[in-house]
Amino acid sequence: MQIKYCLFVCLISAILATGCKVNRVSSSRSNQSIDSTSALVPTLKQDSIFVTSKGDTLTSLDKEVAIGIKRLIKDTLSIIGVGDIMLGTNFPKPDYLPPDSGRFLLSEAQPFLRDADVTFGNLEGVILDDGGTPKHCKNPDLCYLFRSPKYMVGHLKEAGFDVVSTANNHAGDFGDIGRMSTMKVLDSVYIRHAGLQTKPYDTFMIDGMKYGFVAFAPNSGTMSIHDHEAAKKIVTHLDSISDVVIVSFHGGAEGKKYEHVTRETETFYGENRGNVYQFSHDMIDAGADVIFGHGPHVVRAIEVYNDRFICYSLGNFCTYARFNLKGPNSLAPIVKVFTKADGQFLYAKIFPFLQISPGGPQIDESKSVIQKLRELMTLDFPENRVSLDEQGYIRYVTQ
Ligand SMILES: [Zn+2]
Repeated sequence: MQIKYCLFVCLISAILATGCKVNRVSSSRSNQSIDSTSALVPTLKQDSIFVTSKGDTLTSLDKEVAIGIKRLIKDTLSIIGVGDIMLGTNFPKPDYLPPDSGRFLLSEAQPFLRDADVTFGNLEGVILDDGGTPKHCKNPDLCYLFRSPKYMVGHLKEAGFDVVSTANNHAGDFGDIGRMSTMKVLDSVYIRHAGLQTKPYDTFMIDGMKYGFVAFAPNSGTMSIHDHEAAKKIVTHLDSISDVVIVSFHGGAEGKKYEHVTRETETFYGENRGNVYQFSHDMIDAGADVIFGHGPHVVRAIEVYNDRFICYSLGNFCTYARFNLKGPNSLAPIVKVFTKADGQFLYAKIFPFLQISPGGPQIDESKSVIQKLRELMTLDFPENRVSLDEQGYIRYVTQ
């Protein structure tokens, strides 16, 4: 009894000394903020959370000492990424909104999207019912502005999205009013978000695991994909306080002519769209674990570099009206990555979806996107240590 009491006191002392907290791991999918500051704090001490296997009441703590003080760590994490999401726009006119308020747009994808620890997508547009400051267009033929009504975000939540990127070329379509509204509405339904200069990154917990998330793009008002050194500092910081760091980027030229990873800086209509290959490798060297790229509106190859996963472009996912959905632009994969608790790649699965105009992901029985990705991976990354089979599994190649 005396030994037990001593161990109990030691446990409490250890917790107080390290500033840790004793937490219960919820079996349900919970989402809690740890650190959503916009300022970078380079040397934040790593925080830790002790969780007992049977609960966290004071009466049970002493019993837990016998089995050791540890956090309940999951063996395997599943992280889903999908590409561009724009559920319909009421600008320039409400004709571009889907029927039934868009509530069925994600119905076929929902069971897949909900079946993961973390589900990510790129929010390509602004969440705002009306008003805002529309972006000035030099060339109206090339200019599309996306303003989705607030109720659309309820559909994202319902479909299973936990975190979205706001670093893309449409986040600023309606000025600061649009940016503020987007963030406020996402916050109201507890969908995490990052990528704007006013909100570069976020951290959150799901089922006792700590995730860091940061997003980059070449567009004004977003975290720059060009400044690799600044990006690395954020990723290193997130790596010091998270189990898994997820990095999103919106980069590379657009369209079917640009489905290859060139490993060089890409320009599109005179705009520098970044060197997505070098950027991704730099982020992984700095501590990133999973990288989800998007922006080209077509899929690009997947690479595993230093045991970490990179998808160079997820393509479009749910882009209603106003989008070209022909040929490769129709492919809308759900990419599910399985990692160890520290983010190391285990395997991945591609679920083949496609969009038919005016849009909305549907299961693709012909599995076109798997075939497309197999071709791109063979051509662009012959040195890859992983391969994609016809069923959509990405696994290490055994020698
Ligand atoms: Zn875009």
